[in-house]
Amino acid sequence: MKVLKFFQMLLLMLKGKKMGKINFKNYGHQKNWISGSYVDSISTKKISVVSPYFDKEIATVSESNINDLNLAVEKSKSIFPYWSKLNIRDRAEVMFQLKSILEKNMEELSCLIALDNGKTVEDAKGSILRGKEVVEFATSLPSLLNGDSSQVADGITCTLSYEPIGVVAGITPFNFPAMVPLWMIPIAITTGNCFILKPSEQTPLSALKIAEYLKEAGLPDDVFQVINGSRDIVEGISDHQDIEAVAFVGSSKIAKIVYSRSTALGKRALCLGGAKNHMIVVPDADLYSTAKGLLASSMGSAGQRCMAASVAVGVANIDPIIQQLVKEANEFKLGVDMGTIISKEAFDRITKYIDEAEKMGADILIDGRNAMPPKDYENGYWLGVTILDNVSPDWPCAQEEIFGPVLSIIRTESLEQAMKIENDNTYGNAAAVFTTSGEIAKTISENASAGMIGINIGVPVPREPYSFGGWNESKYGHGDITGKSGVHFWTNLKKVTARWPESEEPWKKYF
Ligand code: NAD
Repeated sequence: MKVLKFFQMLLLMLKGKKMGKINFKNYGHQKNWISGSYVDSISTKKISVVSPYFDKEIATVSESNINDLNLAVEKSKSIFPYWSKLNIRDRAEVMFQLKSILEKNMEELSCLIALDNGKTVEDAKGSILRGKEVVEFATSLPSLLNGDSSQVADGITCTLSYEPIGVVAGITPFNFPAMVPLWMIPIAITTGNCFILKPSEQTPLSALKIAEYLKEAGLPDDVFQVINGSRDIVEGISDHQDIEAVAFVGSSKIAKIVYSRSTALGKRALCLGGAKNHMIVVPDADLYSTAKGLLASSMGSAGQRCMAASVAVGVANIDPIIQQLVKEANEFKLGVDMGTIISKEAFDRITKYIDEAEKMGADILIDGRNAMPPKDYENGYWLGVTILDNVSPDWPCAQEEIFGPVLSIIRTESLEQAMKIENDNTYGNAAAVFTTSGEIAKTISENASAGMIGINIGVPVPREPYSFGGWNESKYGHGDITGKSGVHFWTNLKKVTARWPESEEPWKKYF
């Protein structure tokens, strides 16, 4: 038995991790999804969808206009009376089906995400699994939302129920093309709403696949629609009188605009924005797991995720940890451990931050600017691991969201200084501390100004049903997007207070 295990391990070591094959394919023009099928947009304008692996067009989508949106809203309104009154068990059944359809099609969906987003296929799979957790949470809603009822005074009963709001919408970013829509759709739909999705025009392919899966799962036509497009549709959603709530995930600049515009018209809005997350590293931290944690957090998804911690704040002498980090980072392989940057524009923006930090005097421990692209993908937007040391807290690379594989290391003398750097940043999505001291971990988790805290975990995404959401300028609106908080966002609470006249023999009047 032991000999067999030894040979298995040897085989794995010899094989090493290899880059998954990304097949180029042009999907042609992708229509909107209305009433359970693909429908031509009323607009004739098109947006080109480019694969960051190849720098080549893989599809086009319509630059839809307000008439397309109006059609989707009318269709959604027409089915709302039926869908909202259908019992929750039948609505949740769609989620049970969707869960197994996602499992069955994991390969297809992850390859699609990799192609239009630039993630590795493994990364894409991980993101689907995270989205699937919300689907699983939605299957539990019949049990969770059984309401409350009690006798509140003699002869008087109060009952509380969760009621759907109506036609609602979601606007999503490029970086998690399936996971972020899956943060919204399962809870919104299972609670009885009709949902209109406006996916990122950079990565629209998987949203349309999800539409097909929902149909296969038995969702009645008209409950879910996908409208492709960009700014016009986002503004149209914010302004539409018949859309009752909007969830947005994207950059803080646009999140703030969508939040103000939607709420000005009385719409309910929850808009998740960008991030600049900090990892506070203390010399007593475990050498190997800390180095791995710093690397995984800052470089996973090529740094293009709102949970990426792009600043490591070292307290006192953390040189051994940084040396280990550099050692591990030098083994990071493009295409295997990390995918591409989403676009040429994003690539230029990120390298500008590195150029600027270099000019300002940062020590470049690893420079990803001239990284070697993987074979057969030479035209892709590849940027390697970049680690900047001795960064000053007031430099742009330490203050702003770079959204790329760049880790800035700030050196401090004390925990108080480190805490202040974290607290002073205007964002507040996540923060982490690496230490073996319970006391230090407790101090940081109590005082960090962020919604999601990691203790020896660099990407502290709460597993469902613990909800997802940040603080400060990482979010406009109240509550979180998933978990019970998501249920509150997509529902209205109805309270019924009842008293029935008492009579000794009520049936007598019928005789
Ligand atoms: P983005 O803000 O550019 O785009 C998001 C959505 O807004 C897209 O659907 C896009 O079509 C639309 N949009 C873009 N410009 C617009 C404009 N001027 N007017 C109206 N609508 C507009 O974001 P992105 O580049 O797609 O995604 C990356 C950003 O998303 C990062 O800042 C990242 O931190 C953030 N993000 C946040 C979370 C979170 O949970 N807080 C999760 C994922 C991504």
